[in-house]
Amino acid sequence: MAPIQKEADYLVIGGGSGGLASARKASGAYGAKVIAVENKRLGGTCVNVGCVPKKVTWNAAAIAETIHDSKAYGFSVQQTAPFDWTTFKHKRDAYVKRLNGIYEKNLGNDKVEYLHGTASFVDPHTVKVVLDDNTEVSVKAKNVLVAVGGKPNIPSIEGAELGITSDGFFDLETQPKKVAVVGAGYIAVEMAGMFHALGTETHLFIRQDKFLRTFDPMIQDKVTAEYERQGLHLHKRSSQSKIEDLGNGQKRLHYKDADGEGTLDVDTVLWAIGRSPELDKLNLPASGVSTNDKGHIPVDKFQNTNVPSIYALGDVCDKGFELTPVAIAAGRKLSDRVFGGHKDAHLEYENIPSVVFAHPEVGSIGMTEPEAVEAYGKENIKIYSTNFTAMYFAMMEPEDKQPTSYKLVCAGKEEKVVGLHIMGAGSAEMLQGFGVAVRMGATKADFDRCVAIHPVSAEELVTLK
Ligand SMILES: Cc1cc2nc3c(=O)[nH]c(=O)nc-3n(C[C@H](O)[C@H](O)[C@H](O)COP(=O)(O)OP(=O)(O)OC[C@H]3O[C@@H](n4cnc5c(N)ncnc54)[C@H](O)[C@@H]3O)c2cc1C
Repeated sequence: MAPIQKEADYLVIGGGSGGLASARKASGAYGAKVIAVENKRLGGTCVNVGCVPKKVTWNAAAIAETIHDSKAYGFSVQQTAPFDWTTFKHKRDAYVKRLNGIYEKNLGNDKVEYLHGTASFVDPHTVKVVLDDNTEVSVKAKNVLVAVGGKPNIPSIEGAELGITSDGFFDLETQPKKVAVVGAGYIAVEMAGMFHALGTETHLFIRQDKFLRTFDPMIQDKVTAEYERQGLHLHKRSSQSKIEDLGNGQKRLHYKDADGEGTLDVDTVLWAIGRSPELDKLNLPASGVSTNDKGHIPVDKFQNTNVPSIYALGDVCDKGFELTPVAIAAGRKLSDRVFGGHKDAHLEYENIPSVVFAHPEVGSIGMTEPEAVEAYGKENIKIYSTNFTAMYFAMMEPEDKQPTSYKLVCAGKEEKVVGLHIMGAGSAEMLQGFGVAVRMGATKADFDRCVAIHPVSAEELVTLK
């Protein structure tokens, strides 16, 4: 059967955070004729296997911690049964499904035509879409956005496929009793933390001595030490050589770590060793768009690729900020520029706040201390920092007290705050407001001029000596 022919001002490939935001703005605000294509579930990584189900699970983990803490406040709360992972998982799935429906409705409201199928380039302006029923649609588009996101990496060792990835974390029907999480980035640290807080024996395998290695050294040191203190089993300087299937759902992980060679029998091995662009089905070479050695698509600040009228954003491009709000903001700005006549619209990639839902939470914006030293010279940097125990823990036994650490990295005579790094309960919510201040170019004196709120942990950030 001959393919169905369609035409569009804007074809958006990928119905995730960035693609949907850009498609809706182009059509809803500027009246462009937009077609969006998605081959899995609307909302992409964030909604289905990322931020959203992750945060819901983190909330469950935080409740587990609160139940534990409640004793110190005089409560005699007792769990009469273990955490019901299966019921929780099904409720979480239902929530995500509701969101998928809302996303589809929003596309309709903004008059974006939605095709559920897999897109691949035929030439720079022609894309073939194979729909679920194998019908082919050929779309001729004046502009094309590549917003196909990324997928988790799996190492090439024997039996690697016996492990799961972060996608598989959200498919787990029952709570593993014992897990091995491999990786040192935020996804590994978050997932290991959630497993541990919910009562799974958790082994975290990292390649070096610390995790979260792109964060400020204070964060690396404190969170690594805190995970060890809380009883997660950290395997430092580790590598893995094989996974064996032992039957009954058990796996044996063969590894080396700082203590030598070993094996560990677990229910689940979770690979969280990085992500790569999801370009497998896109036939990108037919578009002429180039990629770098890691497979990412290089773009300028306007999200332009090397091919005119083809743009890329979000996790597939090389900007280094794999975060939902970054993809959304870049997508909206792109539509403002291409369809809204705002010639200079672009996302500013400096001072983007990011958090880690670790235990405790981490928040970070701007330069790490080593980056600031490199940029300004050691003599032009002043560090203000503090370590303390939040009042929440005052009622607890020493072994239940979590640490809090804050750091401001200030540059120049005016002590402009060029980096802010916080670890402790509530850090994720706190960072948003401080992020505004840092983006506005606040100095240490501006921080000090803001009268403290008492008694909260955040007050320490405006009273640093
Ligand atoms: C476990 C985890 C936790 C995370 N937590 C956070 C968090 O707390 N905060 C945060 O800001 N970010 C978080 N992220 C990152 C965030 O999810 C991503 O940065 C964001 O989703 C990227 O958006 P995107 O539009 O680039 O791609 P995606 O959202 O991945 O969307 C791309 C879409 O394109 C589709 N697609 C791919 N190829 C084709 C094709 N050929 N045809 C049709 N469709 C195609 C895919 O199915 C996918 O739905 C997390 C990620 C993970 C994995």
